[in-house]
Amino acid sequence: MLSLLKELYLKPKNEIKYLILFVTNKCNANCDFCFNHKNLNETNKDLTIEETKIISSNFKNLIQLTLSGGEPILNPNLYEIIKIFYINNNLKNLTITTNGFFYDKLFDLAKKILLNLPNLNINFSISIDDIEKKHDDARKVKNLFNNIRLTYSKLSNLKNNKIKLTCATVINNNNQNKILKTIKYIFDNFDFDDHEIIVVRGSTKTSKIKQLNLKNYFNAINYRNKLYYNNSKNFLKKIIDFLGSKIILNILNKNTFFKCPAGKKMIEIDENGNVFPCELIYSFYNNYYLGNIFKEKYSDILKKENTKKIISFIKNKKCNCTFECAIYSGLIFYPISNILFRKKL
Ligand code: SF4
Ligand code: SF4
Repeated sequence: MLSLLKELYLKPKNEIKYLILFVTNKCNANCDFCFNHKNLNETNKDLTIEETKIISSNFKNLIQLTLSGGEPILNPNLYEIIKIFYINNNLKNLTITTNGFFYDKLFDLAKKILLNLPNLNINFSISIDDIEKKHDDARKVKNLFNNIRLTYSKLSNLKNNKIKLTCATVINNNNQNKILKTIKYIFDNFDFDDHEIIVVRGSTKTSKIKQLNLKNYFNAINYRNKLYYNNSKNFLKKIIDFLGSKIILNILNKNTFFKCPAGKKMIEIDENGNVFPCELIYSFYNNYYLGNIFKEKYSDILKKENTKKIISFIKNKKCNCTFECAIYSGLIFYPISNILFRKKL
């Protein structure tokens, strides 16, 4: 606990502690709300082991690594990639976002991690947006829901205090009116450790899918809290989640800012080595790439004029969004600014 507090608050201000890594641009799904859809399956690019070593060598200890894509499990080097961060960056917490289709690959990966990387806490965040065939239709993958059941049941057999299984639902225009039914169905049919409700974001295929009635989001959060948290003994989690969803609602209502850790404590790197503070800043700031980590060191990227401008743009709260990873980690990295002295618009 002490070493975690030290990593969180005593390290230099701009030391990256949270990395979101896009390990492939391959995906077997075709979701209308995918913010990364323009990039998917174009080049079939997987992050390689050598490239991962370069990325890892640019950072010190990481508190959290989140693997994204595409569908991360389609990268054949996934275990090696994780192992590199485990060894070089003293990684303790890993999240793998997955659509849950490839149950055998996910099961094999989990087994290998449990056997060989004993100090790693791993969260499989499995996406479910609707019930049964409706979910298959939303993600345009036949038998997806069925395979999610298999993924869930196989991974459940391995569950211990090192493995968490969570569910993530993207609330959007298509599923918002039946969101409570979906949440209840998931609660009754699975035993997930948590259920994240994610607001549809970024550059989606159509703008209609982003039309969200705030009341639906509000009701979904309250219902989820009632089912999952009311009896939970994890008070810290309860508080963070309560505050996080409150901030998101206030942002959607356009009446609050939060101090965002993007670019300072958290960054994103894609499968081509491009570094950017977050996956949403392009909608606020044109020249949002900080650089390419395969061509320049991260310490040099930080010295660039454009990087300084972007970081000061974020610091001056010129952008404001509902990206959950930024908001929840912002509560942990900057509790004083984001809990006690949050600025109103
Ligand atoms: S599964 Fe994920 S990466 Fe693939 S299309 Fe859907 S949202 Fe995009
Ligand atoms: S507020 Fe949103 S858009 Fe701006 S840097 Fe943070 S996560 Fe990115």
